[in-house]
Amino acid sequence: MIKIGAHMAITKGFSKVPEDSFNIGANTFQIFVHSPRVWAVTPIKPNDDVQFKENLKKYCIDPQDILVHSGYLINLASPKDDMWEKSINSMINEMQLCSQLGIKYFNVHPGSHLGEGEEFGINRIAKALDAIFKKTSPDTTVLLENTAQKGGNIGYSFDQLGKIIKAVQNNSRLGITYDTCHGFDSYYDIRTKDGVRKLISEIDDSMGFDRLRMIHLNDSKFDLGAGKDRHEFIGKGFIGIEGFRTFLSFDEIRKIPLLLETPGNDADHANDIMTVKSLL
Ligand code: MN
Ligand code: MN
Ligand code: ZN
Repeated sequence: MIKIGAHMAITKGFSKVPEDSFNIGANTFQIFVHSPRVWAVTPIKPNDDVQFKENLKKYCIDPQDILVHSGYLINLASPKDDMWEKSINSMINEMQLCSQLGIKYFNVHPGSHLGEGEEFGINRIAKALDAIFKKTSPDTTVLLENTAQKGGNIGYSFDQLGKIIKAVQNNSRLGITYDTCHGFDSYYDIRTKDGVRKLISEIDDSMGFDRLRMIHLNDSKFDLGAGKDRHEFIGKGFIGIEGFRTFLSFDEIRKIPLLLETPGNDADHANDIMTVKSLL
């Protein structure tokens, strides 16, 4: 059976998310651990973490399949020292909440060099991760998400992600998330079997395929290589229903948890999950 879920709201408490996920036909999920548009991290309400873990058991959700997505302000490649340090501290705080909830995987966008260049950005990110790993539990694995090629973003190629991994001291704590919309934005065409084979072999060559731990399953509102990062419902965008059928025909892909970051609410996500299940 595949692992599938969506990005879920935490507004009713962490403990409500397992049930909300079950109700949309999911057996895993992604969450933020606090409001992603502010630096400050709010502590978890008393007992919410305990209840969260109990409800994971109740709804048969494996904590190893869940993903925490970092806040949006974090930029581990920032050339500005104050922003870079704030980013490191914020990520440490978020990862501590991740540990408290018993979640293994933490997803972050590698960052933007803001014009300083790729090499600068890669070194800056690696230094930040070295600092972060010194202050966080080894139980948390950080996943670098591939990005759309725009705005000085690092991580639109596996070569870049592989270079970051190589530059980090404690890199057994690193893996990647593959976002199908961002990949499509950066010319990875998963609509053909050859395209998927090329994707798999590029990941394998640049870091080893077992670094791939999570998939963000999103269709794209724009065509191949557009670099716009606009997600669309599964089958309603340029990857399309046949594109996802091809992508999901690969065993290597189906064994990885699939997390939707498609538009809309829980009902829309339930619909996308049904679409994906119908393709298998
Ligand atoms: Mn993301
Ligand atoms: Mn994503
Ligand atoms: Zn995106």
